[in-house]
Amino acid sequence: MVYEAAQIGGRLRTASFPSAPGVVADLGGMRFPVSGRAFYHYVDLLGLDTQDFPNPLAPVTSSTVIELAGQKHYAESAEDLPSFFREVADAWKAAVNDGAKFAEMQEAIRIRDTGRIKELWNELLPLMDEQTFYGFIAGSESFKEAGFAHREAFGQVGFGTGGWDTDFPNSILEILRVVYTDADDQHRLISGERNGCPRHYGSTRRRAWPTGRRERPWRRSTPARPAGLWAGSAAMPMATSGSGSAGAAKPATLRW
Ligand SMILES: Cc1cc2nc3c(=O)[nH]c(=O)nc-3n(C[C@H](O)[C@H](O)[C@H](O)COP(=O)(O)OP(=O)(O)OC[C@H]3O[C@@H](n4cnc5c(N)ncnc54)[C@H](O)[C@@H]3O)c2cc1C
Repeated sequence: MVYEAAQIGGRLRTASFPSAPGVVADLGGMRFPVSGRAFYHYVDLLGLDTQDFPNPLAPVTSSTVIELAGQKHYAESAEDLPSFFREVADAWKAAVNDGAKFAEMQEAIRIRDTGRIKELWNELLPLMDEQTFYGFIAGSESFKEAGFAHREAFGQVGFGTGGWDTDFPNSILEILRVVYTDADDQHRLISGERNGCPRHYGSTRRRAWPTGRRERPWRRSTPARPAGLWAGSAAMPMATSGSGSAGAAKPATLRW
């Protein structure tokens, strides 16, 4: 926070434009999963406002368009999409459950059983350390059974924030780290300037922190997980069009 002496924010910097001061653009982070408790601890402490981020097919997103090989699908909710996309979502859910003990790991995280988390992770490391995301998908029984079209569509439309096929060469462990902790879904944005958090922190860091727990307004307004097609932790909402930086009224950006 001191390297760029003239500005503060690091990779959470938000820029505005002299000719349109009300319009802001995120140059770095813009969506923050509600599972990030430490992050929201500081958001809350600083009294910053948050809103639902319009991810693809999120309840707050007015519409989502998926275009694959020239074929467009318009959806206002997951139920509007053809069953093919449900099959892709199911194949992903089965792949992480069969190959990476997804449900078990999430339960261990939920109950904060660090011993069990380590045990599960230690089992995965020798199996997955050299495994790519694509190798994991291609090797899973569920995607083998579903076929290549499902695998390709998965890469294009992905989960949470959109298509993840640019991550196919990366280690599956990196992807698991994200999806185990629900960092891929249920995002919120910070209203106004996204670098508000580091900036406000910079200006308040010398003050004594308030004691005791405070209510978290963002939690009160956070919706429960949607009960639709991609409900559940291995959720896979689809990539769409548009940009979500300016707020919930606009459709979603693909991903960070
Ligand atoms: C394009 C992009 C999109 C992203 N999208 C998201 C998103 O949607 N959601 C999300 O949660 N995360 C996102 N991220 C990641 C997120 O921005 C980072 O995880 C987060 O900013 C890390 O915070 P930090 O304070 O650890 O590091 P930084 O934000 O990188 O801050 C480190 C600061 O330290 C300074 N510094 C470095 N070395 C020195 C030194 N030797 N001396 C003095 N100062 C130094 C740097 O200049 C910088 O200001 C995104 C990142 C990028 C680049």
